[in-house]
Amino acid sequence: MNQPLPTSCATPPAATAATIRQRGQHEVFCGLTSIIWLHRKVQDAFFLVVGSRTCAHLMQSAAGVMIFSEPRFATAIMEERDLAGMADMHDELDQVVARLLERRPDIRMLVLVGSCPSEVIKLDLNRAAGRLNAHYAPRHRVIAYSGSGIETTFTQGEDNFLAALVQDQATRPAKSGAARLVVAGCLADVVEDQFSRLFSAFGLSDVVFLPGRHATDGLTIDSNTRYVLAQPYLGATAAALESRGATRIDAIFPLGTEGTTAWLWAIASAFGIDRARFDGIVDQPRRRAEQAISHYRPWIDGKRVFLFPDSQMEPSLARYLHQELGAEIVEIGSPYLHREHVAGELALLPPGVAISEGQDVDIQIDRCRQANPDLIVCGLGLANPFEAEGRITKWSIEFAFTPIQGYEQAGDLAELFARPLMRNSILTGRNREAAQ
Ligand code: SF4
Repeated sequence: MNQPLPTSCATPPAATAATIRQRGQHEVFCGLTSIIWLHRKVQDAFFLVVGSRTCAHLMQSAAGVMIFSEPRFATAIMEERDLAGMADMHDELDQVVARLLERRPDIRMLVLVGSCPSEVIKLDLNRAAGRLNAHYAPRHRVIAYSGSGIETTFTQGEDNFLAALVQDQATRPAKSGAARLVVAGCLADVVEDQFSRLFSAFGLSDVVFLPGRHATDGLTIDSNTRYVLAQPYLGATAAALESRGATRIDAIFPLGTEGTTAWLWAIASAFGIDRARFDGIVDQPRRRAEQAISHYRPWIDGKRVFLFPDSQMEPSLARYLHQELGAEIVEIGSPYLHREHVAGELALLPPGVAISEGQDVDIQIDRCRQANPDLIVCGLGLANPFEAEGRITKWSIEFAFTPIQGYEQAGDLAELFARPLMRNSILTGRNREAAQ
């Protein structure tokens, strides 16, 4: 466990079995859901979904109790007369935006989010954003991206948002020069602060987190900029950064002790920091992480785990489960596999692990039942039916909402997997006592 990981993702994932590619019924969220964590991160942004009542209901259910705290997102509901072309959608949108900005003048960035209905009727939100920008800039900045279920699955909504931010940055460069390092991928503030402290200890300056906490945070990217992905689902963002000249630092993702060390070392070595200095800086947090994980490892060691597709984080979670917690991986489902970005993770998995991309949910459920794993990582819609069959599940949505990256969170991540197994052990123990 203490061996340094390879930081390069150049190793081909030859160890894994052929990918199962399936198209059929999906059990996944659309990209609108990512607004739930994005609106908490960017503190002066407002996300306006242009969609139907279905979209509004989805946001309400996914946000849970958050909807009672005057969140910074809403849905501009398209009515039948909009869909029938009886009203000019652009005029209606202008009126909604005017009312919103009058009521919430603290909004600095208004984000128009496209949905299935707005895409089906070909409402051009980029054009609308351009028009609104001309009217409201510089007080309010307006950008647009798509979170529709036709185009995006869950975390891909964040990918489209970040790509739109990068493209928009061209018009709003930072006051200082180009960023030397861009860390792309939404991280909880607490995780961002921990990484910032480590980067300062490495002597790295001009580090920019994307997205930033404020819409007004400027960002200049040029050929001197290196970027590293903090999340595995950022294909469009990576392409947008590279189109501005930035170069990717190749690394596995910062989950667990080994993932975090490999990720940090990839960054440190790219900026010429020597290994002895690096080890001295990360030694203490690394030990703390190892200790925290060791507390939960006995619960997961040797357990067989099946991961359904959800967030594209599945290959990284599987690598962590196998490498640091001793789990046996039965199948890794992912809605989409960005092979270049997850090659390093797949290369660290044992031979023969089944990987599936996309989904035909009934067939996948049959495979899962047949494999009879000890733990199933799946969405809310599948979890309770599986539990009713006497199987143990972990809701995958928690990996998107909980701070899990970095050393200080490595134990919490282990606990997320261990908790359902612990709970089951308590309940079966009680049942046994009751039967005696
Ligand atoms: S964007 Fe599409 S998939 Fe998402 S809630 Fe709206 S209609 Fe449903």
